[in-house]
Amino acid sequence: MNLKDYIRVIPDFPEQGISFKDITTLLNDGAMYKKAIDELKELIKHLEIDLIAGPEARGFVVGAPLAYALGVGFVPIRKSGKLPYETIELGYNLEYGNDSLAMHTDAIEKGQKVLIADDLLATGGTISTSVNLVRQLGGVVVGAAFLIELDQLKGRDKLTDVEVFSLLSYE
Ligand code: AMP
Repeated sequence: MNLKDYIRVIPDFPEQGISFKDITTLLNDGAMYKKAIDELKELIKHLEIDLIAGPEARGFVVGAPLAYALGVGFVPIRKSGKLPYETIELGYNLEYGNDSLAMHTDAIEKGQKVLIADDLLATGGTISTSVNLVRQLGGVVVGAAFLIELDQLKGRDKLTDVEVFSLLSYE
């Protein structure tokens, strides 16, 4: 079985026309979850990384085990109003809806090399906002890593100045 067999595709969720890639079925299987993180680690092994940053919630599920495997720190990028200390915030558009993301102002030291991780690259709105937040804090974005990339939505084009790594792609 390969990783893609463990992604459950749900048509018309959360709204008509969206083909939702459900990774809970992958996370449910210990061996396959480990395989996904190990393969992602292999894809980015040439990068120098000081920190991994990931947007909630599925960016934590991918970014935190990857950070643990590399022995680097993890920085949560959260929805507005969730982080307790001083934050910077930026608004963004999703494939379905709008939102804003925040980071603690002291989460990154100037010049630290940051890999951004999430489960899935769709329109690229979430990740380009994450890239902008990390850069505003003085971090150097060395790449963006995903389990899944939706090719049709061309999120990669929004990230022209960021190297993109993904394990699986869908039309
Ligand atoms: P985007 O900002 O459009 O690149 O959307 C990426 C974020 O939204 C990721 O954090 C995904 O978890 C979620 N997402 C967007 N589209 C989908 C989809 N078709 N299936 C599953 N998750 C999605």
